[in-house]
Amino acid sequence: MNRLVERGRLRGARCLACEAEGVATHGAVPAMRNALEVPTASASQARQRSTEPTPFSTMKTWIRDSRNFAYLTWQEVDRLPRDRTLLVLPTAAIEQHGHHLPLATDTLINNFVLGHALQLLPETLPVYALPPVCYGKSNEHIGYPGTLALSARTFMDTIHDLGASIASAGFQKLVLYNTHGGNISCVDVMTRDLRAEFGLRTFYLSGSGGAMLDLDPQEKAYGFHAGELETSLLLAAWPELVHPDRYTVNYIAKVNDPHVLTPEGGPANFAWLTRDIAPSGVMGDPTPASAEKGARWLEQMAVAVAKALTAMVEYSGARLACEADDEKSK
Ligand SMILES: [Zn+2]
Repeated sequence: MNRLVERGRLRGARCLACEAEGVATHGAVPAMRNALEVPTASASQARQRSTEPTPFSTMKTWIRDSRNFAYLTWQEVDRLPRDRTLLVLPTAAIEQHGHHLPLATDTLINNFVLGHALQLLPETLPVYALPPVCYGKSNEHIGYPGTLALSARTFMDTIHDLGASIASAGFQKLVLYNTHGGNISCVDVMTRDLRAEFGLRTFYLSGSGGAMLDLDPQEKAYGFHAGELETSLLLAAWPELVHPDRYTVNYIAKVNDPHVLTPEGGPANFAWLTRDIAPSGVMGDPTPASAEKGARWLEQMAVAVAKALTAMVEYSGARLACEADDEKSK
């Protein structure tokens, strides 16, 4: 029951906020190498080339070249340790994000957080980011010009075929790092299917990495699309893409006013399309957003994601509870 409720909370079109309430970060993660500053024109110019978002690429990136799998030659790939190397496949979306955020919000946030998380890892840890699957299952946002959606089948087939290529090269570890709520069900299915079909050790990683972010309960529960969290992260990442003069506020339910049927997170949910319940395209309240909050939440998320990636590199397989008990009794 608990698992069903927990899983139910993850369904739907949530982006990041829904995943911000998980387990608090704990344990050893290498210390932050670079302060996560709120970018300004001068600070941005001062940063090293490898940590700057690249303004003239097809998509801005915060992932260093040395962590970009696609910048390796095939011989360099061939020299990677197959048993330990962790490949990270980002999954996101190109979809409407209200009047004030760009279509690429989920894709930019994915890269922003992952890029900073990768900077926290020791240079020797073999973790590489694959080029992202930018298009996602976004049919909840169809009807808004600019939303570019894949069907569930196409999205899952794409992940399947990439998994096949990765397995055929002998790699064993793949994590799907997802920042679009509409993808969650499909990504969840594919992590298990790739494990079953190819024997890959596959992992699912949510956008926040489980970081505990200090959003208020209403925003945490229902501010899941173009709300305070996503807007703050974009203000920290690339403020020119945010239009604060165009904010709209819309909550599709109230945490203190429960109904039998809920749009998300309850035991009995109704399926919804954005155009039915949120005409502006926003689900949440972006008005309290700030670059300072975005920088703080970025740091928390990057630490949590780095910790999860480290655990995945070290992971050697699920253990049965009875095996653990046996060891304790020795
Ligand atoms: Zn989003």
